[in-house]
Order: sequence, then C-alpha cells, then structure tokens
Amino acid sequence: MEKKPKSTLRTKDQFIEALSTMKRNIYYDGEKIDRTDELQMHCINTIGLTYDEAAKPENADFMLARSHLTGNTINRFTHIHQNTEDLHKKQDMTRFLCCKVGGCIQRCMGIDAVNGIYNVSYEADKANNGETAYHENFKKWLTRFQNEDLIGCCAQTDVKGDRMLRPADQPDPDVYVRIKEKRSDGIIVSGCKLHISEASVADEILVVPTRALRKSDKDYAAAFAVPADHDGVKQVVTIHNFRPRKHFPRGFMPGLTDSYVIFEDCFVPWDRVFLCGEYQHGGILALLFALFHRHSYSGCKPAIGDVLLGTAALAAEVNNIQKAEHVREKFAEIILTTELGYAAGYTASDLGKPEVYIPGVGFVPYGPGSYIPNSIYCNVGRCLTGEAVYREQEILCDISGGISATFPHEKDFVNPETKDLLLKYTKRNPNMPVEDQAQFWRYLGDLLCSATGGILNVGGYHGGGSPVMEQIAITTQYDIESRKDIVRHLAGMSPREKKK
Ligand SMILES: Cc1cc2nc3c(=O)[nH]c(=O)nc-3n(C[C@H](O)[C@H](O)[C@H](O)COP(=O)(O)OP(=O)(O)OC[C@H]3O[C@@H](n4cnc5c(N)ncnc54)[C@H](O)[C@@H]3O)c2cc1C
Repeated sequence: MEKKPKSTLRTKDQFIEALSTMKRNIYYDGEKIDRTDELQMHCINTIGLTYDEAAKPENADFMLARSHLTGNTINRFTHIHQNTEDLHKKQDMTRFLCCKVGGCIQRCMGIDAVNGIYNVSYEADKANNGETAYHENFKKWLTRFQNEDLIGCCAQTDVKGDRMLRPADQPDPDVYVRIKEKRSDGIIVSGCKLHISEASVADEILVVPTRALRKSDKDYAAAFAVPADHDGVKQVVTIHNFRPRKHFPRGFMPGLTDSYVIFEDCFVPWDRVFLCGEYQHGGILALLFALFHRHSYSGCKPAIGDVLLGTAALAAEVNNIQKAEHVREKFAEIILTTELGYAAGYTASDLGKPEVYIPGVGFVPYGPGSYIPNSIYCNVGRCLTGEAVYREQEILCDISGGISATFPHEKDFVNPETKDLLLKYTKRNPNMPVEDQAQFWRYLGDLLCSATGGILNVGGYHGGGSPVMEQIAITTQYDIESRKDIVRHLAGMSPREKKK
C-alpha cells in the first residue's frame, strides 16, 4: 500500500514562537532587539501570510507541493521545481501573495537559493569525482527545511569594496565573504553580506557567491547555510515600516527588513557546507540564484503592477479625471509593463529545462533533473519591469497631483476643530464617500512620499540584480550572430564564414 503523504505545514504562530526563542544577535539603531520586537511585527505578519494562505484549501493547488525527497506535502516556498508546472505555480503563487500584501512577500529568496544550491552542489560533487558530499548534505539540510517549513533568506550580495577590483585583489580580504580556514570538522568564514532581506526574521541564512570567480578567488567560492542566530553571526538591521496608523488603519499593513549579515570567524560544520573553493561552480551558483530570483520577479513585479494600476485608477477616480485621454494612456503603459513582465516569466517557466547556459558553451544539461527557467526570458522580464519602477512612480505622481505630499496627519481628521473643515476640503469626486477619499490619499502618501516607499523603489530597481546585470546576461546569451545571418541573407551579403 502506498504511504499516505504527511503534511509538514507550520502555522504563523509556530513561526513566531520559534523566532521568540532565538538568540539575540540583531542590532537596530544602536541597540540589540528581540526578533519579535514590535518594530519587526509588520514584517513578520507579511511573511506570516505565506503560512496562513497555505493552510486554505482553496489555495492548495498552487501553494502546496509534494516533496520529491520525502513525498510529504510541503509549502511550495521550500520546494525544488520538478517540472514546468512547478515553475508556473511559483510565478502565480508569488503574484497572488504579493497582491495580498501590496508588495514584496519576502519568502522567494529562500526558494530561489535552495533551487540554485540543489543543482550546483550536484554538479560540483560530479566534477570532484565523488570526493565531496555537498549534494547529499544539502539534501539532508533541505529535508529538514521542508519538514519544518522553515524561512530561508539568501545572502548573496557582498560589500564588494572597490567595484573595479575582483575579490582576491581587494585591499581588505573581507569585503567578499571568504573561507578563512578549512578544518577537519568544518570551515571558518569571515566577511559581510548586505541588503539581506528578512534575515532578521529568518530561521536559516543561505550564503551563495555574488559573482564569477577566478582561480585566485577560490577562497570566495563558498556556499553554506547557518541558523540566523548562529555563533559568529551578527545582524545589523534596517526596518522599513510605514507611518503608524491609530485612527484610520490600512486594510493590510506590510513591513520589510534588510540586514547587514556579518560573519566574524564563524564556524560552519561540513554538513552545512555546499561549496568550498570550487570557483567555477561558485560563479555558476551566483548566476543561477540570480536566474531563479529574476523568475520570482516575474510574479512579484506584475503584482506590484496590479497594485500600481489600482492606485492610479483610484487616484483618477477620486480626482474624477478617469476618462481623460492622457490618463488612459498612462493606464495602458502600466498594463503593458505588468503583463509583458508576466508573459516573459510565463514563457521562462514554459521553456524551463534541467539545463543552464554556460557562457562560451551554450545551453548544457545541468543538475540532477530539476527544472530551471529559461534565462533569456527571466532576464528580459526583470530588466523591463525593473527599469519601469521610477516611470511608474512618475505616473502616480502625475495623476494624483500634489496632495500625497501634504495631506494632513490622522489626528487632524479627529480633532473637532479641524475635522469637518478637512473633510469639506478633501471632497473631490461627488460620487465617492469623502472618508474613502481621505483614506486613499493616506495610502498613496505611504507609496509615493514615505521613506519606506522610497526604499521599496530602490529594492524594485536593484533587487535581483540591477538592470545593467540583466542587460549583460541578455546580450551575452542571446544569439546575435544568427540575427546578423538573417540580415546578411536579406541584404545579399556573403554568408558568415564557418568556423574551422
Ligand atoms: C531593498 C533591497 C533588498 C535586497 N535584498 C537582497 C537579498 O535579500 N539578498 C541579496 O543577496 N541581495 C539583496 N539585494 C541586493 C541587490 O541584489 C543589489 O543591490 C544589486 O545586485 C546591486 O548591487 P549593489 O547594491 O552592490 O550595487 P553596485 O553593484 O555597486 O552598483 C552600483 C553601480 O555600479 C556599477 N558597477 C558595479 N560594479 C561595476 C564594475 N565592476 N564595472 C562597472 N560598473 C560597475 C553598477 O552597474 C551600478 O550602476 C537587495 C537590494 C535592495 C536595494
């Protein structure tokens, strides 16, 4: 008789309970804070939605998966993509959840890192002729990650020091995370990863290299996982919350955190090390995490497009200008970017294969058979939507006018001396309750004029790799020569000389 699949789903309360028992290694604004500090709760509630929504039967089809390792029913955020359908479902789950919170759902870094490491650890062991056991160790780590429904963040971006110098050439060797010592029981690592989203609320930190590496950079070819409160790990966090609301709460109040994750002579046991010195594989892992992550953007950026379109359309409605021609053109612009970004991700899912693109070689079979989205479509989608971030803010600013910058604070709408006057002077569209109009302008202020709104824009532009990184990936991987051949033929030129 076939074994009945076991469910391994964690609840949001269990997640919070686990955070509350972790060691204190989080620094915020000059003090050490608990993980469940009030300031972190909006971020915890945001990521907590990945547990609440997974528990709803109507979401089971796209939020749950069957582990290929254990057969258990697991949260999709811990799954290794087994086919193109899994890639489609990850994209759609991301769009669904990001719409619910009005921005980043913050759990995609973990799924993207585990999919990257799963493939690269396998190839590194193969190239090492069985002398290393990275992949087996990773599978053991992954089984616990899946069974306990843990949150993983991905620490890829290094401090990088002088941008024009490669890791081994930097005056300070710690500006890229490095293997300082190899011991019989594990490795000692040192360095700092920065901008690491939700590290301050994660169970586990997954570390991967940031860039292509040379032989002389081999000490920087490190991939490993440590608990987020591990000895030798210090986090300095920035917490991004919107202005608190007392009288007029938002429907959902999201929050985000980003950490400097500092490794001070941190010991990592061998069973948590998934690359150690294999510099060629380190470079591929850097690309592969970025590729999976750009695929996630084809879910979150369309969701942000949904939110921006809804916001622009409501701003137009409150101002009663929704039928104006220039406004409709701007709606079309947001829809074009949103749906082209989604379509690129959809195609990347559909064309997914157990293959990667190796510069100078082309697409080659890769990994133990799990599915990797198509690189060209991931990169064109992420580049298109990343570059649109500030244009979309410009559209919102244009349609809404200046009110988001100067709208009075909450208590002025409660104070009997100003309340009625402010409502009288807030009214624009006669067909919408004025309280809703006021509530909308408060929301728009969060998006367009707050410090956190500004941080979200920088994240939307640079997160997953700045647009220039995608341009490099696209132009190095795209077959430009074959397009020249098309034109050689059309123009009546002599054909390209075949390579001998
Ligand atoms: C809100 C937010 C959240 C993020 N979350 C995560 C996360 O969870 N995990 C993670 O690992 N990363 C994360 N990132 C990091 C993100 O991936 C990086 O910001 C991005 O890759 C750009 O790197 P950088 O910030 O170091 O900028 P830089 O690489 O320094 O870029 C600045 C400029 O310098 C140029 N430049 C850099 N190097 C060179 C060179 N050698 N030659 C010529 N020009 C160069 C770039 O093209 C760019 O124009 C996050 C970023 C933000 C803003």
